[in-house]
Amino acid sequence: MFDRIALIGLGLIGSSLAHASKRGKLAKHIAGHAKSAATRQAALTIGFADSVHATVAEAVKEADLVILCVPVGACGAVAAQMAAHLKPGAIVTDVGSVKAAVLRDVGAHLPASVHFIPGHPIAGTEQSGPESGFAELFDARWCILTPPVGANADAVEKLRAFWQAVGSKVEIMTADHHDLVLAITSHLPHLIAFNIVGTAAHLEEVTDSEVIKYSAGGFRDFTRIAASDPVMWRDVFLNNREAVLEMLGRFSEDLSVLQRAIRWGDGEQLEAMFARAREIRRGIIAAGQDTAAPDFGRRK
Ligand code: NAP
Repeated sequence: MFDRIALIGLGLIGSSLAHASKRGKLAKHIAGHAKSAATRQAALTIGFADSVHATVAEAVKEADLVILCVPVGACGAVAAQMAAHLKPGAIVTDVGSVKAAVLRDVGAHLPASVHFIPGHPIAGTEQSGPESGFAELFDARWCILTPPVGANADAVEKLRAFWQAVGSKVEIMTADHHDLVLAITSHLPHLIAFNIVGTAAHLEEVTDSEVIKYSAGGFRDFTRIAASDPVMWRDVFLNNREAVLEMLGRFSEDLSVLQRAIRWGDGEQLEAMFARAREIRRGIIAAGQDTAAPDFGRRK
């Protein structure tokens, strides 16, 4: 599909894209770059990149497809480093969890001779780093592309075909709409998880060992989400401020309704809200986006 793919950032998403591209034989050569020498060495040792480069400029040379797999806040600086070295006609994309900020920060640096089409695979784990990647990460998961107005239709189709070839289903929407949808489906759940784990950590009357011992009561599932990479999530909240604040406002209002129902012993209200929530979970399973096995399949 491509002669040369350049991956900038070789953590969970970058290394998984390399594994999946190799599985599908999608590139003759995969070039990579990461900030640290340790990650670059790990990429060579594991073998998911054919070449690794000490600079962004060297890594993107002659690449037909360049994919930024770095934290959202680093995208603008990386784009500035690569701009003068991109092959005319190359497709440049990213995998960042926020889209309007990336469109603004990266778009500002790129020459008109390349096709910039931001993207975001809705796939991940709480792990990070070059050892955490695997070829199946994107299988049956959605990938959202947010081409700017006037984007080259052939380039969009080629990028769509690439994501399909690594296993994804592809949807196209505007960057602003993406940021609003992801604020409720991903960003707010992470914020809640970070917060609830923080609240438990601050409790003086519950010892650490009790929090851990009885975590299967629900807390454990929040801790998995809260274990996600701190730098990545710092950048998500700094770069999707408006949409997250909007969803947080709605969340707080709904939480107050629950609080009031508990205070006044309004069982009907509580049951109705919990029943609606259960239906959403059933819908997610019906859509094939999670397992129906009890406890996420932990019980064998
Ligand atoms: P990760 O495992 O922490 O990997 C980040 C990679 O970026 C590392 O290789 C790091 O290099 C490199 N990097 C950071 N700053 C850099 C810079 N200035 N120049 C060059 N390389 C730099 O993170 P990830 O989970 O793959 O996330 C990458 C992107 O994917 C983020 O934008 C995130 O929003 C998005 N995303 C993540 C998930 C998820 O579940 N994790 C899902 C969808 C999308 P070093 O290793 O040398 O530090």
